[in-house]
Amino acid sequence: MSSQINKTVLVVNCGSSSVKFAIIDPKSGEVFVSGLAEALTLPDARINWAFEGEKKTEENLGAGADHEKAIDFIVNTILAGHDDLLNSLVAVGHRIVSGGDLYSQPTLIDDSVEAGIEKCIPFAPLHNPAHLQGIRAARKIFKNIPHVCIFDTAFHQTMPDYAYRYAIPEEYYTKYHIRKYGAHGTSHAYVSKLACEELNKDPDDFNVITCHLGNGASVSAVKNGKCLDTSMGLTPLDGLVMGTRCGSIDPSVIFFLCKNLNLTAEEVSKILNKESGLMAVSKKTSDFRGITEGLEENDPRCKLAYEMFCYRLAKYIASYYVPLGRVDAIVFTGGIGENSFLMRKRVLEWLAPLGVKFDEARNEQARVFKGGRGVISTPDSSCIVTVIPTNEELMIAQLASNFAK
Ligand code: ADP
Repeated sequence: MSSQINKTVLVVNCGSSSVKFAIIDPKSGEVFVSGLAEALTLPDARINWAFEGEKKTEENLGAGADHEKAIDFIVNTILAGHDDLLNSLVAVGHRIVSGGDLYSQPTLIDDSVEAGIEKCIPFAPLHNPAHLQGIRAARKIFKNIPHVCIFDTAFHQTMPDYAYRYAIPEEYYTKYHIRKYGAHGTSHAYVSKLACEELNKDPDDFNVITCHLGNGASVSAVKNGKCLDTSMGLTPLDGLVMGTRCGSIDPSVIFFLCKNLNLTAEEVSKILNKESGLMAVSKKTSDFRGITEGLEENDPRCKLAYEMFCYRLAKYIASYYVPLGRVDAIVFTGGIGENSFLMRKRVLEWLAPLGVKFDEARNEQARVFKGGRGVISTPDSSCIVTVIPTNEELMIAQLASNFAK
């Protein structure tokens, strides 16, 4: 740990039974403590954390321990005797999955914002209620510093109506707010900004396509720091082929399954969200590493899953040349984007007709650079292709620190 601690931010990401947390210096990016409380509200509630170079676990957080207990444990047990670190906290940044069309910016939390997050529950039924639990617990414990919501959807609020509207009866939009919202906004914002800085481009004249490829995956068209289009829709089910999600699909598949197999909407939702994607096609794994291992062993199903993933992504990237007009850079990020040179190779091969050229050796090396980083296009490529590790927590810390008193 640095001998002198500057201003820090507590970043919290609450799931229904978990709290992921980190204390970060928003300027240097230094992470002082990070960890995960799991199985909250269950008999085996536990917490593990990394602090001062040591990894520790408390297996017994107390039966039924909730979000408040977990945050209390961070303050009063993990950080006991570390008043310097506690006193350095200037804000709490809360990651929120959906802010619907209510929030387009990081927002200081008050009771009306809590009500707003509640209104957005239909768009993130698993996540938003958990975020509210976390916010309420953290507000009780940290009374004197600002709490800031950072919405995954906010970055995409700049999309024009012809990109975010669905061609369905208007009242579904006006009455029920059914439209494209997108996701992973914090990551798309972070890597698009970093790409502009690292490539020494003018932020007011920089067109970039950002590919966030993890278990969930999405791609965005970003012009001068503003999102023009993104592949996820009303929910994170749309767009790319993902670990267990199907991505874009003809809606008639759903009617077919309901009508001919007598499945309920919930059952079809489970199939398309949890039993599809790479997992369904490979019949082996939702994990991209497993897919590429299968590819090397000539497993035909893994080969098909790999081809489907890359083809769909390449088509989305190519389609974003339309809103952007000119593409200066393509960025790969997320576990798959940063690590899979085989995925990048196949996608970039598809993009050759657009003048995209890459250096095979640099592409292969990018996976062994620490954190996989660097330009992999050739100097005569029509646009720069680069690999940039995402850091959503740091972005949340930076955005929340703007609200520090
Ligand atoms: P999440 O969306 O859960 O945050 P990550 O961004 O950590 O996910 O990405 C997880 C994905 O990255 C998994 O599919 C994993 O297999 C893939 N991945 C990680 N390392 C490699 C690698 N070396 N080669 C291919 N895929 C990888």
